Amino acid sequence: MSISWQNIFLKLLFSLETHNKYPIIFISIICWKNWKYMLQIEIWKDNPILRTVCEPIKQNEWKKYVKLWKEMVSYIKNPDHAWVGLAAPQVWVTKRIMVCSLLKSWDDESFKTIMMINPEILESSDETLCDIEEGCLSLPKAKKWYVARHKDIKLSYYDEKAKQQIIRLSGLASVIVQHEIDHLNGELYIDKLEK
Ligand SMILES: [Zn+2]
Repeated sequence: MSISWQNIFLKLLFSLETHNKYPIIFISIICWKNWKYMLQIEIWKDNPILRTVCEPIKQNEWKKYVKLWKEMVSYIKNPDHAWVGLAAPQVWVTKRIMVCSLLKSWDDESFKTIMMINPEILESSDETLCDIEEGCLSLPKAKKWYVARHKDIKLSYYDEKAKQQIIRLSGLASVIVQHEIDHLNGELYIDKLEK
């Protein structure tokens, strides 16, 4: 993770804006606490953050991560990135949070981008798909490739209001979710290619 003075200044402004009730003396501490919420993508396949099995979010922690979820959604929706999924360890937070755009196909324009907390695959089909090319924001130099994934999954997750949702996904949306859940378990799609 690179740290520049410009970055420190931005984080200071960010802290002032969001925590202006705190005395100035605490700003540097707050700045440090907020550091991880200024999204920078963790890269490199042996990065220890990307190899961490993330912890579930507890009920009393929910509100703490609302800002992070929003930033993650805006990050992947930003046309400069235009990505379909992002998991918290990719932005230096080892918690079971991810955002996924549930596309039916690559030209689907009516998809929803959903924040998922503590996602869990409840059921998965024996039938697999291996015709969807995968890439990863955290592996900018790795070749995009095809990974065998379950075609259909039944997924449980908690939404931003801490309400449990259970959905069934198929095809591309199912693959996107499986890729992001792998991140929460410290796994990367290239691991599956090496097997
Ligand atoms: Zn990825």
